[in-house]
Amino acid sequence: MAEPGSVAERVKSQADIVRVVGEYVRLKKSGQNFMGLCPFHSEKTASFAVHPVKQIYHCFGCGAGGDVFKFVMEMEKVSFPEALRLVAEKCGIALPERRPRTPEQEKAARLRATLVELHQHAARFFAEQLATTKEGKLVRDYLYDRGLTDAVIKEFDLGYAPAMGDALYRRLRGLGYKDELIEASGLINRDERGSFYDRFRSRVMFPIASESGQLVAFGGRALGEDQPKYLNSPETSIYAKSRVLYNLHRAKETIRRSDFALLVEGYMDCIGVHTAGLANVVASCGTSLTETQVRLLGRFSRRVAVSYDPDAAGQAATERSLNLLLEQGFDARVVTLPVGFDPDSFVREQGGEAYRAQVKHARPYLEYLLDRARASYDLPAQAGLSQREGKVAALNYLLPYLARVPNKIQRAEWAAEVAQRLGVEEALLREELRRAAQERRTELRVRPEFVPPAVKPAERRLLQILLENPEIRPDIVKELRDTQAHRGTTLENVFEQVLAVEAEGAGLEVTALGERVGEAERRLLYELAFERAEAGTLEEARSCLAALEARAWERRLQELNKKIEEASKKGNVQEANRLAREKQDLYQKWQEFRRVHLKDTHGS
Ligand SMILES: [Zn+2]
Repeated sequence: MAEPGSVAERVKSQADIVRVVGEYVRLKKSGQNFMGLCPFHSEKTASFAVHPVKQIYHCFGCGAGGDVFKFVMEMEKVSFPEALRLVAEKCGIALPERRPRTPEQEKAARLRATLVELHQHAARFFAEQLATTKEGKLVRDYLYDRGLTDAVIKEFDLGYAPAMGDALYRRLRGLGYKDELIEASGLINRDERGSFYDRFRSRVMFPIASESGQLVAFGGRALGEDQPKYLNSPETSIYAKSRVLYNLHRAKETIRRSDFALLVEGYMDCIGVHTAGLANVVASCGTSLTETQVRLLGRFSRRVAVSYDPDAAGQAATERSLNLLLEQGFDARVVTLPVGFDPDSFVREQGGEAYRAQVKHARPYLEYLLDRARASYDLPAQAGLSQREGKVAALNYLLPYLARVPNKIQRAEWAAEVAQRLGVEEALLREELRRAAQERRTELRVRPEFVPPAVKPAERRLLQILLENPEIRPDIVKELRDTQAHRGTTLENVFEQVLAVEAEGAGLEVTALGERVGEAERRLLYELAFERAEAGTLEEARSCLAALEARAWERRLQELNKKIEEASKKGNVQEANRLAREKQDLYQKWQEFRRVHLKDTHGS
């Protein structure tokens, strides 16, 4: 991908993969490498490694691996040119003028930029309305009443959409924007007669930003009892509500640093908790949490506490969220506030300190669910069930959650705990669980074809020396070409590609080589690259080569043996004798080879 002298090559040489990956994965230094939880598969112990010197990453669990561009392509689901641009941006590397895009791309990009601009104008308009108008004054009082200060209002860019029907529309028109653009922003609706009116009227406005901090939508909260209580921007070409977490752009650094996120439901909860000193809080934007949002959050931490309302709707939302979090391998906890409180009102009435204590004592999700199960089913009379029926109902309630835990060991541990707490037989529960787990597709992505082939030590080491020691590489390549010792080995194709790359005069890079071989072989290459191995000497390489050759001799001898056997079986004495003489000849040469090359028996 990154050809010598190309822009990609230049960006790659200046970019720091540790920094780029570190934006998505918490990395810890471990020996020469950095390790973290793999963002490409669910795991509890870190098997994802980044090599700062070689500028590559590799997951020892699922086999994902590549260079900084590959990483960004996979993470952001973008094409190579887009990944190149992103990496350059993240590392502050200037790129030459981009090639002109197709007219359609150009048009779409222009539209997106204009929509963001429109949102910025709208945010300014709403903020002005809140700060300077008579109507706004009432809203400010309402916000003060709910514990917000001017500083918080400013920090969260809160605003007010006036009751009058088309104030924002007229503002945007006045700025010179055309109707169809304003309409595309989702800020304006059109009535049956075709005239425009503001989507948000008489509402407190919460600007919603993308992860990178770009303003893409609004949430509007009704004042008083107007319905709906919350109104969001519609989906536009800059806003997909399932992919945005409110406040993530402010919270992401704290979440990564503390390896802990707090998940709330509403905008006011989010702001309230934030002002209580918990800067790692995000909200699901008034919609129910989506898988995409969970994945987004998982890039910063997989430890999360859910803090929703304790009412029935909040409990249902908590359970839905737990399902998603468990599937993604999160360590999930639940903050249980006293009935009648939401996080916002709790902070206001009991103080930030008290709320932080609640978060600190958040219960592991399983305990929360067990309590829920007991509350619903442990009082059989109340639920109109016999005691046995109650247990079965509780189990049926819990099983789907347990089945979603991707980690087998953890699943077994929790099954044991559930069995004990509910007083059912563990073996029975495990069997049920096994079936439940079987019925749904698991997250595990370790496929058999990805497991590296069993490679003989000499082959493996020879390849490693080729990769690690460029000084003696030409010599080894020449001997490999002359002897063809790699023929018939497990890594024949990899050696063949090494010869090809050398013949082309390109540098032998693990990333480029990895693209020329099969998946299992690519994995092996990355594993070799991450081993802390000595560069190796020409002498060592030769002894590996000799071991490969020796195996070739043995194979030839075995083939002859087989032919002799076949000839004898058929009664072809003459042919058998001829083959036997050939074998004798070969055997002598083989002995000679051993005498010269295999003074020490190299491990093969
Ligand atoms: Zn992985």
